[in-house]
Amino acid sequence: MTEIMTTRGLIKPEELGITDYHEHLYVEPPGWLHKIDPDFALNSVDKSTEELKRFSQAGGRTLCELTAVDFGRNVDKIKAIADNVPDVNVIMTAGYNRPYYMGRWLASVSEADMIRDTVRDLLKGIDGTDVKAGIIKCGTEYNNFNANGQKLVRVAAAAYRETGRPIITHTTAGTMGYEQASLLIEQGVDAHRITLSHMDRNLDVFDHIRIAKMGVYLGYDSFGKAKYGPETDRLSALRQLLDAGVGNRVLIGNDLGRPSYWKAYGGGPGLDYVLTEIRERMLKTDFTQSEIDMLLVDNPRRFFAGETGG
Ligand SMILES: [Zn+2]
Repeated sequence: MTEIMTTRGLIKPEELGITDYHEHLYVEPPGWLHKIDPDFALNSVDKSTEELKRFSQAGGRTLCELTAVDFGRNVDKIKAIADNVPDVNVIMTAGYNRPYYMGRWLASVSEADMIRDTVRDLLKGIDGTDVKAGIIKCGTEYNNFNANGQKLVRVAAAAYRETGRPIITHTTAGTMGYEQASLLIEQGVDAHRITLSHMDRNLDVFDHIRIAKMGVYLGYDSFGKAKYGPETDRLSALRQLLDAGVGNRVLIGNDLGRPSYWKAYGGGPGLDYVLTEIRERMLKTDFTQSEIDMLLVDNPRRFFAGETGG
């Protein structure tokens, strides 16, 4: 049985409970990015604790913290936030987010060094601590599967071959998911250990069914972001995936990685949004309780445990 690495050590798959597969709790973005868009900095342990408690009160039991080193991961702060809310498991991230955040750094660092650092974060600990990451990340740019993006994908695959930890990728606006999955599989990653994030930014159900039939998980995480389209569109795509028989290959998150998305900063919808408003809305419309349980509990458990079936 595959156990799952959290900030407090290994847990059993059945301890995951309701899982949000893609969030950010603490982010210190690169300085140049902060200058052009200050709405990425999540830099208050108190406010993050408040928001994580909101998630816990809504029934959330596991939260995946997808901040990679190139987007400003801080292991001490994330560990402190997680320890403030002991009934929630927090899973941290190794690997890299996307070439855009890395800039010239990506050209100057060798693939071997990137693999070494990623494996160290997974097996030994992050930044000299004994807190280990439980997820491997990689990502690519918008409509572009260039050499830089492929380098990050290969690094993630190599780290998977050494550690067996699951991979959650970043897609930019839901593009290049099929290409990411194909290269990861070609590099020896098992399809059912791959989740592609932000796929609901591009609600191309044909493409999603094709990817899910490869055995790969689709991450839907744009709820509450009207700027990316209405909830009716996201939920009707989700309904179509369930009706096509691939609902067992969808993970739900919310990716609220901006202070303006958090009630703790006076914004919204807040970290409890999927578990309150979206869950209620699904039940009132055309989703059953067992479908919601599959999306929020069973699918993440199967993904993290590495179960092939279901
Ligand atoms: Zn994210």
